[in-house]
Amino acid sequence: MSERIGFIGLGHMGGPMASNLVRKGFSLNVFDIVPAARRAVEALGARGASDVADVAAASDIVITMLPDSATVDQVIAGAGGILAHLRAGGIVMDMSTVDPPLTDRLAASAAEKGCGFVDAPVGRLASHAARGESLFMVGAAPDALARVMPLLEAMGTTIHHCGAAGTGIRTKLVNNCLVLVACALNAEAVALSQRFGLSLEKTLEVVHGTTATNGQLKIAWPSKVFKGDTEPGFTIDLAHKDLTLIVNAARAVGVPMPVGAVALESFGAARSKGAGAKDFSAMVDVLCDGAQIDRPRIP
Ligand code: NAD
Repeated sequence: MSERIGFIGLGHMGGPMASNLVRKGFSLNVFDIVPAARRAVEALGARGASDVADVAAASDIVITMLPDSATVDQVIAGAGGILAHLRAGGIVMDMSTVDPPLTDRLAASAAEKGCGFVDAPVGRLASHAARGESLFMVGAAPDALARVMPLLEAMGTTIHHCGAAGTGIRTKLVNNCLVLVACALNAEAVALSQRFGLSLEKTLEVVHGTTATNGQLKIAWPSKVFKGDTEPGFTIDLAHKDLTLIVNAARAVGVPMPVGAVALESFGAARSKGAGAKDFSAMVDVLCDGAQIDRPRIP
C-alpha cells in the first residue's frame, strides 16, 4: 500500500493493532503520550513521531485509538490536532469508543477541510486485537471505505460496513450495551453460585447448555477472572465510560434504559472500591469480596 499511515494511541488496543500493521508491511508514523508505548511499536519498524501534528503532516490516513471523547476531540480537532495538519484528501479513521454527536461533528469538520472521516470502533477483546482477529463496525462513505479496507483487513478478520459515517459508533454502543449489562449480570449470578456453594465448573456447564449463556461468560471469563487474571484487557473504567455514553445517548433519543442505568451504577460502585484499572471481568471479584464469598476460580 503506497499510502502513509499515522497511528495515535498505542494502549491495550492501539499497541497491538499498530504492531499488526507494521508486521504486515505498512509504513507507520506512531505517537502516544506514553513514550514506552511508542517505543514498543518503533522497535518493530514504525517511525516514532514527536507529536500529533508530526503524525498528521507525515501521513495520508491517520488512525486514532484513544481512551475517551474529550481526548479524541482534542487530538483530531484541537489546535495542533490532526485536522490542522492533514493535507486535503487525507482520511481520519477514529477507532475509539466515543459519543456519537462528537463523531458527527468530527466528520463534518473533516469534510470542511476536504478530508474523509471513518468511524471504525472495535469489537472483541484485546487478545483478539493482538492476534489480528478484531471485528470492526465501520461508518464510512464508499470511497473512504475502499481506502481504509486494507488496514482493517490487516488488523481484523471481520469487517461490517454499517452505513455512512456515524453508524459505526452507534452500532458499537448497541453492541457494548449488551456486553456490559451481561457482564454486570454475570457477576451477580456467579457470586450467587459461589454463595450457594455450587461447583463453578458444573454451573457453567449447565448455563452454557441453555439460553442463559453469553459470550463474556463463555469466551472471555474462562481465560481471565476464572484463571485469576484481572490484568486489563478492557478496564472497569472504560466499561463505566462506555455505559455512560450508552445511557446518555439513549436518553438523548428518548429510549428508556433502566437496566443499562443500573449496570452503569454497578461499574461505578466497583470503581469506588478501587477496581477501576482492573479487567472488567473482575466485577465478579468485587462483588464476592464485598459479600465475603470465595472468588470464583477454575484451576
Ligand atoms: P488504553 O487506555 O489502554 O490506551 C489509550 C492510549 O492512548 C494510551 O496508551 C494513552 O497513553 C494514549 N493517549 C491518551 N491521550 C493521548 C493523547 N492526547 N495523545 C496520544 N496518545 C494519547 O485504552 P484501550 O483499552 O486501548 O482502549 C482505547 C479505546 O478503544 C477506548 O475508547 C476503548 O473504549 C476502546 N475499546 C477498548 C477495548 C479493549 O478491550 N481494551 C475493546 C474495544 C474498544
